[in-house]
Amino acid sequence: MLAIRANRLFDGVNVVEGDRLTVLVDGGVVEAVTDGPPPSGADVIDLGAGTLLPGLIDAHVHLAFDATPDTVGALAVGDDILLDRMRAAAAATLDAGVTTARDLGDRGYLSLRVRAESAADPRRGPRLLVSGPPVTSVGGHCWFLGGEVKGSDAVRAAVRERAARGVDVVKVVVTGGRLTEGSHPHEVQFGAAELDAVTDEAARHGLPVTGHCHAADGIAAAVAAGFGGIEHCTFVTAESIFVDPLLLEAMVTAGTRVTLTLGTVGPAAAVDHGGDDPRRVAMHDALRRVATSGVPVACASDAGCGPGKPHGSLAYAVEAMTGLGLPAQRALRAVTSGAAEVCGLGDRVGRIAPGYAADLLAVHGDPLTRPAALRRVAAVFRDGQRVR
Ligand SMILES: [Zn+2]
Repeated sequence: MLAIRANRLFDGVNVVEGDRLTVLVDGGVVEAVTDGPPPSGADVIDLGAGTLLPGLIDAHVHLAFDATPDTVGALAVGDDILLDRMRAAAAATLDAGVTTARDLGDRGYLSLRVRAESAADPRRGPRLLVSGPPVTSVGGHCWFLGGEVKGSDAVRAAVRERAARGVDVVKVVVTGGRLTEGSHPHEVQFGAAELDAVTDEAARHGLPVTGHCHAADGIAAAVAAGFGGIEHCTFVTAESIFVDPLLLEAMVTAGTRVTLTLGTVGPAAAVDHGGDDPRRVAMHDALRRVATSGVPVACASDAGCGPGKPHGSLAYAVEAMTGLGLPAQRALRAVTSGAAEVCGLGDRVGRIAPGYAADLLAVHGDPLTRPAALRRVAAVFRDGQRVR
């Protein structure tokens, strides 16, 4: 029995009040949270003045991307080099207190190797959910990761291949993105028949589906096809940004889960309040509306996808979310219990509660009043094992 105590505790949903809060851990699982002396015979770890919270969950990362200005060019290496880079990225992610991460786009299914390695040894990286190469259109966004398809039959075959490989989720690039030359976020890449083929085939294999969707039309198309998850969800159009209230309502009704990708490392960008650039103001307004609409929301980093997005930078996403005007507690839920729900792991991780995996993060200071405290990691536990 392990007894871990700290002065403050956020359980993934609420702040728990008490003077001597102790998390009791047995067999890698949280047994209880008590406000009394630890049981005799327990190994006590006293983290003192810090705050204890669930290990963070980053619902959208790319271990294969190296966060340089030329992430695409940097992929021109063999699998061994790329795999080593991904292992380092996984270690950096865990170092930052992220005990669960969802990789939404690799090359050659290499993330499955990294998933197996960190499952065998929790010190190597977070618990991973992986999609393998994202399914995209020919020449579409992220085509260079190897997931190009055309037509419903090819889409179905791609989903079957991913199921056979053992992915946790099917990632579909529904709209364009900035990273790919010739691709535009406001453009939709697939027709309704192809998107329907994705959800139908994925359902046969019991796999959840999430879609990279910037364009408002792409979000609508993915929701209409029954996608369970939407990544980014920025509601861009060719001219501006438009959040369709009826679509948002339909998403709440359907239980669509949204992952907002936020934050960049850097002095000016950390709290992204953002001046008065009208597009930026409109974007912040759109993201705030999504975040407060009632859909389950994860706040994620998109780590790796460019400069300012190094692996292990999820804390900056939390700061950016509070920069949208949302309370810190809400932002913290979006990287713990909320992110777990989005990833389909809501009954196992993301909360400090009996029966949950003993994935814990201790930080110096109080992230509920100052989110930047998340960057001051004091200790990380995965499945009850101290890994940092
Ligand atoms: Zn991404």
